[in-house]
Amino acid sequence: MSNSYKKSDSSLFTKKINYIGKKLLETNQNSIRHNNFFSVIFISDTHSQQLDEHTKKNSSLEQYCLLLKKIKLYENITCIVHGGDAIHGFANNPIKSNTQLKQFIASTKNELYENTNPLKIIPFVMNEGNHDYTCNNFNKLVGENSDIIKAKRHCLDIILLYTGYMHNGFSDLTSFKKQLSYVENKIKKEHKMVKFIIDMHIPPQIGAFVKYSNHTLNSELTTEFIKFINKYQSRIISVTTHHIHNFNTSDFSLPVYIHPEGNIPIYLTSSGGNKDSNKHSKSQCKCLKMNFVTDKNKINLKDVEEIVL
Ligand SMILES: [Zn+2]
Repeated sequence: MSNSYKKSDSSLFTKKINYIGKKLLETNQNSIRHNNFFSVIFISDTHSQQLDEHTKKNSSLEQYCLLLKKIKLYENITCIVHGGDAIHGFANNPIKSNTQLKQFIASTKNELYENTNPLKIIPFVMNEGNHDYTCNNFNKLVGENSDIIKAKRHCLDIILLYTGYMHNGFSDLTSFKKQLSYVENKIKKEHKMVKFIIDMHIPPQIGAFVKYSNHTLNSELTTEFIKFINKYQSRIISVTTHHIHNFNTSDFSLPVYIHPEGNIPIYLTSSGGNKDSNKHSKSQCKCLKMNFVTDKNKINLKDVEEIVL
């Protein structure tokens, strides 16, 4: 990489994409320590497809990169979280899916890390969606499932809860419970002032999401999830979900649902590219910018805005 973050760290950019994001976040902590205002971007469902053999382009990936360019114009962005379905993938061809994922990662690195002023680099991490699941080396290229992202030290963590197995999350309750208890252990180990955002590709079946029952967690898994957020209601600041492309709203900056226990808002973002598929051609390419304000390490979600391409 021609313009690496630090000369001594040049090998960092060859590591797994989430490892790079986490390391950059660690390095940035000192510079953002005194920021009372900061933002986190949630983008998802790029559905990037194979690059055209001649032009080396595809429109989803191009739209996504243009959106990243727009995001880079904002100040005080701590990190970008991609909520899954980076690629469209092939149900029966993991090799081709892997190629798409590699292309997506290369474009992301190129846009965010290469030829960028080191002081302006925005760390990037990604969660796994059901389309990414068609790869057989997602973990090798990206990182571990249900990972914890320390966005602001002693203040805000983002948990990438793994629900990307099928179009309706896990088919199997035992595995889902295992993910939740894995996350629980991570929450217990964190500083007591830290609040959490739970990012999950597939939404739970609550509020207005019930109309999309084929594309939400089934009722068993939803019950487990609600038990979990009720238990940690004082620690969870918001939930971000993705995956549903035809959700009926013009304004994603409003929560789809506010969970009454703990007043936890649940947001949806599902249009970070996806222009190649006819099915999604009408959706605008956009993402969410969540703005936080801190006062003596106490964090509040100030507001949420849409960034539209
Ligand atoms: Zn999906």
